[in-house]
Amino acid sequence: MYKIQNHKVSENQLRQTHLDQDGYERMYRQSIEQPDMFWAEQANRFVEWMQPWSKVHESNMEKGEAAWFVDAKLNVSVNCIDRHLKTRADQTAIIWEGDDPNDSRYITYRELHEEVCRLANVLKERGVKKGDRVCLYMPMIPEAAFAMLACARIGAVHTVVFGGFSPEALRDRIQNAECDVVITADEGVRGGKTVPLKQNVDKALTACPNVHTVVTVKRTGADVAWDEQKDVWYHEACAQVSKECTPEPMDSEDPLFILYTSGSTGKPKGVLHTTGGYLVSVALTHHYVFDYHDGEVFWCTADVGWVTGHSYIVYGPLCNGATTLMFEGVPTYPTASRCWEVVDKHKVNVFYTAPTAIRALMALGEEPVKSSSRESIRLLGSVGEPINPEVWEWYYQVVGDSRCPIVDTWWQTETGSILIAPLPGACGLKPGAAMRPMFGVVPALVDNEGNELDGVADGNLVIKQSWPSQIRTVYGDHHRLIETYFSTYKGVYFTGDGARRDADGDYWITGRVDDVLNISGHRIGTAEVESALVLNDYVAEAAVVGCPHDIKGQAIYAYVMPMKGVTLTDEVMAELKVAVSEQVGAFARPDFIQPTTGLPKTRSGKIMRRILRKIACDELDTLGDTSTLADPGVVDELVEHRLNRG
Ligand code: ATP
Ligand code: MG
Repeated sequence: MYKIQNHKVSENQLRQTHLDQDGYERMYRQSIEQPDMFWAEQANRFVEWMQPWSKVHESNMEKGEAAWFVDAKLNVSVNCIDRHLKTRADQTAIIWEGDDPNDSRYITYRELHEEVCRLANVLKERGVKKGDRVCLYMPMIPEAAFAMLACARIGAVHTVVFGGFSPEALRDRIQNAECDVVITADEGVRGGKTVPLKQNVDKALTACPNVHTVVTVKRTGADVAWDEQKDVWYHEACAQVSKECTPEPMDSEDPLFILYTSGSTGKPKGVLHTTGGYLVSVALTHHYVFDYHDGEVFWCTADVGWVTGHSYIVYGPLCNGATTLMFEGVPTYPTASRCWEVVDKHKVNVFYTAPTAIRALMALGEEPVKSSSRESIRLLGSVGEPINPEVWEWYYQVVGDSRCPIVDTWWQTETGSILIAPLPGACGLKPGAAMRPMFGVVPALVDNEGNELDGVADGNLVIKQSWPSQIRTVYGDHHRLIETYFSTYKGVYFTGDGARRDADGDYWITGRVDDVLNISGHRIGTAEVESALVLNDYVAEAAVVGCPHDIKGQAIYAYVMPMKGVTLTDEVMAELKVAVSEQVGAFARPDFIQPTTGLPKTRSGKIMRRILRKIACDELDTLGDTSTLADPGVVDELVEHRLNRG
């Protein structure tokens, strides 16, 4: 279907990788054939334990139960901080780049230790105990990482709520997770604009009587309402407590955090992760997938409010003693070159972002990229949505100057860590393919009846064996865990995504199963049709959905966003239809194309096709929950200009 190009990683890059193809295959085989031996070895390599396990793992995929490193004890903050103090106390742990290009901070491991211990003591003084839930509603400032680690140090369970969420969304999450403490900032700063975080917290708390303490970081100095009982300034409270805090020994299966999924498909779920297995998985994947080498600067552009920020800004990199970069702003502020200026300023070696950001930058052309050197970059990463091959090529050629491998990492909030990705040095690269399973991960494709498909196949992606960073429950609703992930197909974890396995055995994610189109009996993932549309030079972004059709069952309705400064003429739209027929097949030719200036996205930047489908089907009364949308305003534009399917 696509012109598949195998990009070979250059010799120069191969020489440095932790693994080559044989090494990967050997380790992968061992991880499947002798999982207990494999994981015991990795757990000892990546993590420091206070007490060993009695059993490596126990799981029941029928019931959705998993326990890893049973009876072992550890503390995540010790692993991310204390154990590095012997060798790297003065190494930068966190580079913070502010929204304003003149603001940056460098926090060493020694400073990180002090900051985390102080805040942990503040929380203890305010009565927070092991197992209590603490809500973090913070901008991208180092205190967000300090707060996560402070919770981990005393055994409190954090639930980070993305700072872009409304007071109502925040309230729902505080209530659902039963938090009694909130950590926030007076205001957040993003793209030159301020966000009234403390004010939003105050609004949310009118319906959260259990919250007795709000710790506020002074970020901008804006005026905020103050309640002498409840409110505490972060800097004042931290100055009054000891800079040492004894870490709480945690059971490997004690909860580490609850995190609500981004809500692309419906009501967000409070995904609960535990301690030992999660930490081993994120450290191992950070090391191998990004081929991280000591001393490198690692930049994951996600927000700490998403799982990517948890696993690959905070826990994975810090567990490995890395230097992790945290960016407060947005890729296009003050100019479209911002990301590359940050790369040059801090000599970033690994850059990990999402297709939505790459597409937005691509729409602005090459010039803003080419004005930077980017010579420090060694590897690029992508996560969050399928990356269209055209966008992959741009990322590879323009951003990476055709010399950096791209790791397209497939995973979910529920999986905790990367499960499918092309390991640098261990496999070739195919634009748009997530490629190979990580160690211990056994993916399979099943048809709608649950029959496993062999060889080259297209189906529902499931995972057959337990992995250490597997979701343990949906907080407060264990039934939902079983129903959502372990009931559709018996004895396996159902991802909700579709995938294709090609003749080489490599995996391609085709999109969410709920979004799959069914045209005259042909089932087709959204990614394939959208990629064909994005191939056109005039198109920046596209989303396709199915709408009812008398003969074909479903017709394809495409929403297309042009590149900056381009208008989509009838001629271009006709060309687009032909292009899809040629690339994918005549059956996939879109019946309708609606040009648009925006697409509805979750706050983490994913296209929400559920809403587009309702618009295309004229089901405007049932648009559903739009509270997780980044910009609810685009819905009005889309509705107003919807096409008459008559
Ligand atoms: P919700 O579960 O509430 O609908 P969500 O699925 O968007 O929200 P996340 O856990 O943030 O929440 O996202 C995981 C999903 O993102 C995956 O199931 C998949 O659909 C998509 N995804 C992530 N990485 C990739 C990738 N590299 N290629 C293709 N799709 C990806
Ligand atoms: Mg999901």
